[in-house]
Amino acid sequence: MMIEIPKILLETLRDAKAVAVLTGAGISAESGIPTFRDAQTGLWARYSPEDLATPQAFHRNPRMVWEWYQWRRQLVLEATPNAGHLALAAMADRFESFRLITQNVDGLHQRAGSKDVLELHGNLFRNLCFREGIELGPSLDSPEIPPRCPHCGGPIRPGVIWFGENVSESLYEESLEACRRADVLLVIGTSGLVHPAAGLPAKAKQAGAFVVEINPEPTPLNTLVDLSLRDKSGSVLAWILENLS
Ligand code: NAD
Repeated sequence: MMIEIPKILLETLRDAKAVAVLTGAGISAESGIPTFRDAQTGLWARYSPEDLATPQAFHRNPRMVWEWYQWRRQLVLEATPNAGHLALAAMADRFESFRLITQNVDGLHQRAGSKDVLELHGNLFRNLCFREGIELGPSLDSPEIPPRCPHCGGPIRPGVIWFGENVSESLYEESLEACRRADVLLVIGTSGLVHPAAGLPAKAKQAGAFVVEINPEPTPLNTLVDLSLRDKSGSVLAWILENLS
């Protein structure tokens, strides 16, 4: 059973030329990837992401943080894109302009076929030198944990944005521009707590977009959005795609 979706959503989408989408961890929940607010499972249950996903945590215990990320990489490799990722990839061609902004680092949007994804928080499978920030490519030839940078010997870290780090200015500007240009913004599976991404729906709203939230739980965006669809994104997005044409 799915919630009933108001007609205005399809009407607005059919008239829209520019659509922007902001996704968070919730869109990947149906692929079996835990969100940050979900309790961590298995081996890592006693650590909070805030204790693992910071430069300070890596500095303190690079081995533990690296192993947590290896575990997350494995989880993602074993997962597949769900109906929500697939519907967004298929929707892109229906509009003159379609920009997908994600806070996710799992690459599932790209695996579903989405192009030019704005990955505000980086990607799990990138590797960077912790000392110099140099991008090192996906395959590493070092037996140590964490592996060592071939240039300076420093530890290698995953290419994601950690708590306390800044998102890339150019990616943020591009995301902001997409939100300002959008006739419709879909905000999917994000708790709306992590900035600056959490501020994008307000920017879109101020610029005149119709803002729709898809999330089974209420969020701080409740009062801002034009429409809240309280259901799982997989079924809602598949329904929208099917009924759009
Ligand atoms: P979050 O964990 O704070 O919030 C997830 C939201 O998704 C919640 O509001 C929850 O109600 C909602 N949700 C749960 N199941 C859903 C479903 N089936 N359909 C739609 N919504 C659903 O995640 P966030 O807002 O993205 O912010 C936290 C940070 O966590 C981000 O920086 C992100 O990079 C990172 N993160 C990413 C992944 C990933 O790449 N898959 C996983 C965990 C955390």
